[in-house]
Amino acid sequence: MKKLWALPIPHNMKIFLWRLLRDCLPSRQRLQQKGVPCTSLCPHCEAAQENNWHIFFGCQEAQTVWQATGIWQHIKSLVDVGEGIVEVIFSLLGSISQSHIVEVVVTLSCIWRRRNAKVWDQGAPPSGVATSQAKQYFRDWQAAQARSSTQRTPPVHDLQWKKPHAGTFTCNIDAALFQDSSYFGYSMCIRNDHGQFLTAKTGWAHGLPPVHEAEATALLTAIQWIVTLSLTHVTIESDCKSVLDALSGTQSHHSEYGSLLNKCRGLLHNHPNLSLKFIPRQANRVAHCLARVSRCYASSHIFEFIPSCIAPIILNEMT
Ligand SMILES: [Zn+2]
Repeated sequence: MKKLWALPIPHNMKIFLWRLLRDCLPSRQRLQQKGVPCTSLCPHCEAAQENNWHIFFGCQEAQTVWQATGIWQHIKSLVDVGEGIVEVIFSLLGSISQSHIVEVVVTLSCIWRRRNAKVWDQGAPPSGVATSQAKQYFRDWQAAQARSSTQRTPPVHDLQWKKPHAGTFTCNIDAALFQDSSYFGYSMCIRNDHGQFLTAKTGWAHGLPPVHEAEATALLTAIQWIVTLSLTHVTIESDCKSVLDALSGTQSHHSEYGSLLNKCRGLLHNHPNLSLKFIPRQANRVAHCLARVSRCYASSHIFEFIPSCIAPIILNEMT
């Protein structure tokens, strides 16, 4: 394990590798064992149980990623005789060169990200695209490391969701447009300082407003809802920069959008315990997924228990 922390790789990749070795990644089989009601089949091939071995080596989709990297020929023999994923990774750490180890970890995390894209986003990118993105990400990180050793640069913005400070809450919000059916939906999910789910709300309405207007609707609904919950110190997190910028600006918009912004401003003014924060889309997964399922529920729906579609993300972000 010591060797793991010394690897010249980004911190989030170390954490990823550590979680893989500790069997803490939320594979479907693991989630099912923990009582989360979900399928245990692999999201790619839907033909096998999704456990760590299948995700990273067994599945044909993993194989196409390995084959797109060029590292496969150096590790094939070790993987073929391996009996378990942890054993294989430790034997790789102990027997191949450091640059190859780095390639292996970059590839493992690429396979994991691609798997998550398949589960949570529109679908997995082609293996060639995914591996070249992963390599580019790693080269950018290396270049940033080289720069920061000569000059101090501000830290790279973290793309992970972060728990709020002790005693405070976050409310992630998002909107989704359903072009095919001319609806738009929105979502909000409140978590405490342990990252635990408290409650969530979704809603939908007819029409296809511009994205910023749908996002402003999400924000206004969230503020109005939080006020009724009488929680102290809630940070509302949105990935829509244009709405947050428009709110802090003084420009008035004479439109539906302007009227939504004005209502938000008024409520925020009267409730100084509420604050707004911009977060990158990657850190707003919970709200993103929830907004996409909003139309499966009533036009205004409150979740007292954690919806199964976001349970894995919440568990993931609690660790
Ligand atoms: Zn599979």
